[in-house]
Amino acid sequence: SRRPVYHPTIGSLSSGGKIPLGLKRKGLRIVVTGGAGFVGSHLVDRLIARGDSVIVVDNFFTGNKDNVMHHFGNPRFELIRHDVVEPLLLEVDQIYHLACPASPTNVVGTLNMLGLAKRVGARFLLTSTSEVYGDPLQHPQQETYWGNVNPIGVRSCYDEGKRTAETLTMDYHRGADVEVRIARIFNTYGPRMCIDDGRVVSNFVAQALRKEPLTVYGDGKQTRSFQFVSDLVEGLMRLMEGEHVGPFNLGNPGEFTMLELAQVVQETIDSNAKIEFRPNTEDDPHKRKPDITKAKDLLGWEPKVPLRKGLPMMVSDFRQRIFGDHKDNGV
Ligand code: NAD
Ligand code: UDP
Ligand code: UDP
Repeated sequence: SRRPVYHPTIGSLSSGGKIPLGLKRKGLRIVVTGGAGFVGSHLVDRLIARGDSVIVVDNFFTGNKDNVMHHFGNPRFELIRHDVVEPLLLEVDQIYHLACPASPTNVVGTLNMLGLAKRVGARFLLTSTSEVYGDPLQHPQQETYWGNVNPIGVRSCYDEGKRTAETLTMDYHRGADVEVRIARIFNTYGPRMCIDDGRVVSNFVAQALRKEPLTVYGDGKQTRSFQFVSDLVEGLMRLMEGEHVGPFNLGNPGEFTMLELAQVVQETIDSNAKIEFRPNTEDDPHKRKPDITKAKDLLGWEPKVPLRKGLPMMVSDFRQRIFGDHKDNGV
């Protein structure tokens, strides 16, 4: 069952992953695992617009064909239904590895994509997470911080899966000379975000639109820092194209309590929206805010879209998907 699945290549570039990335070129062959998901589909839009050939590998576990349907028929776009837990053979220059259900499949999928990168000499980018910092004892978090993660808690599967994925990535870098990049992504929101997966921004926006109360967990004083998806995609591409392995924090340092977030949602959608308190989940991190000095210095990157600008773009997309009206979706 470990036999790789072979898929023919697209395009005809033959230089493997070894094109000096600063040089002008016709277009790269790039695989985006999880490319039918929220972040992945926005990344695919940018890569296709830039002239690259893109293979999306997705099992539609949480992603959706609708997110990439506008590329169907483009000869530079290909969609493969495939679970990255199974090996995969492709010829590509770069791998953006976003596919991620909870671990341990996360770990196996990462191992396979690293094996693929090693075989064809592709550059590999892992989308890790701020969750590797757990319930952080350092604030804001720098990349040098090792984190405070409960290995046996209800959230551990995801956190430890990503921590292991980072470890594997660095092992393939040191042991097999694979060119790797690691991004630690902080809470990201925007159009195409899954409506019902329980994240706080999608919950509040959907609730306000449906005239339901906003569910604040715990006392609502815990903080998160919310990044608009276009800023993240820009950061991922700069990281992939640049010379630095990372890890790099990619997030917006603008920090909000959940009550403040609820207030911004009220201002944006419905000032009469009610707030309802619910018990919080176990091991919920009390605060989270990225220190992005490293990304600023080495990637020349920083987020440009503040919450009050980004939220309305997400709201029109949600409105359209929830009620099916035809307002501009803000993408
Ligand atoms: P998403 O669920 O929208 O996208 C993940 C995609 O991967 C989906 O399309 C899903 O169908 C696909 N997938 C899952 N398991 C797969 C498998 N075994 N084989 C093939 N495809 C599979 O999530 P997202 O928000 O777009 O996240 C993308 C990446 O960024 C993930 O790795 C996630 O852990 C990371 N990340 C996201 C955030 C955030 O706030 N959105 C924060 C930190 C890290
Ligand atoms: N792999 C893959 N596609 C490839 C090359 C490897 O999916 O093009 C998988 C392979 O099946 C294995 C994993 O990646 O499960 C790790 O591969 P590697 O060659 O590093 O390890 P090995 O097979 O030598 O244990
Ligand atoms: N949260 C909330 N109401 C909701 C969903 C989540 O108050 O309807 C809280 C949750 O307890 C956490 C924060 O919002 O403190 C962020 O949760 P999310 O799942 O979006 O992100 P993560 O915890 O992974 O950072």
